[in-house]
Amino acid sequence: MKPSYLTGMTTALLLALASMPAAADEWDDYDDIGLTLQAYEDAYPTICERHDLGLSVQGRHLWAIRITDNIGVEEDEPEFKYISTMHGDEVVGTKMCMLLINYLLTNYGGDPQVTNLVDEVDIWILPLMNPDGYEHTPYPSRYNANGVDLNRDFPEGTHGDPNTTTGRADETIVVMNWSFANSFTLAANIHTGAVVVNYPFDNDGMGSNPSPTPDDDLFIYISEEYSYYNEPMWNGTFYHGITNGADWYSIDGGMQDWSYRYMGCNEVTLELSDIKWPNPSQIPDFWDDNRESMLAYMETCLIGVRGLVTDGVTD
Ligand SMILES: [Zn+2]
Repeated sequence: MKPSYLTGMTTALLLALASMPAAADEWDDYDDIGLTLQAYEDAYPTICERHDLGLSVQGRHLWAIRITDNIGVEEDEPEFKYISTMHGDEVVGTKMCMLLINYLLTNYGGDPQVTNLVDEVDIWILPLMNPDGYEHTPYPSRYNANGVDLNRDFPEGTHGDPNTTTGRADETIVVMNWSFANSFTLAANIHTGAVVVNYPFDNDGMGSNPSPTPDDDLFIYISEEYSYYNEPMWNGTFYHGITNGADWYSIDGGMQDWSYRYMGCNEVTLELSDIKWPNPSQIPDFWDDNRESMLAYMETCLIGVRGLVTDGVTD
């Protein structure tokens, strides 16, 4: 006989719940991500909802999850986003996002840190921005299905590009429109290929030289909130595990500079592993290294001034 709390759950939901990433012993495939996020919405409808942000070139969904209390109500809360794997061959961040989602949902109401984050922050997580590259055979690809590097495809401030989606890759357009529709104040996008937090600017027209923003102190602070809890990162190649982007190497059309310059959103780039597609046996170690960092970084959006923009006359 089924336990009473399972009554009414469909077989599909039970299977999806059983495959939730808590086991953490294999990388996710594209199909699992959509099913798992739907299972979460079904299991935790008061604090999360799955969103279909749009389609890739080959028609795959860019699935996101929104996690917050009073879901569906616009509250006086900062909006935050994690985006992973805009480079389809960089697998670690997708799994870290799936594990973070699971951690937030299963610890809400029990763990004070998680409960505070879900209550006070409007959290969005897009675990896989480039599903076509991720599913590319025989090997995953950095690029989208049209050969575009999505982290070189955003409006570039040093060129004075207009903040429009005209001529950009499908996946870039999806992320731009999602960002236009929300008021994100803090974000991180997740990669592999190094172990470091990279903060803006990636390009301020000075080539590969130090290129601080006017908010350099803030960026160093929030970057170190991430790296401090990640021991290999803090003690790695980069001092305190962080670097100014252009000081490392300059790029054109990067997403973090677009978020900062055009959208008023402080975004950093997280590089979580020297190896882009490591053996999945390392997943528990990656999660140990990144769990506290991911939570601490999110908490930094609770510092500073908050408030809904309302009509100054009637309010
Ligand atoms: Zn990358």
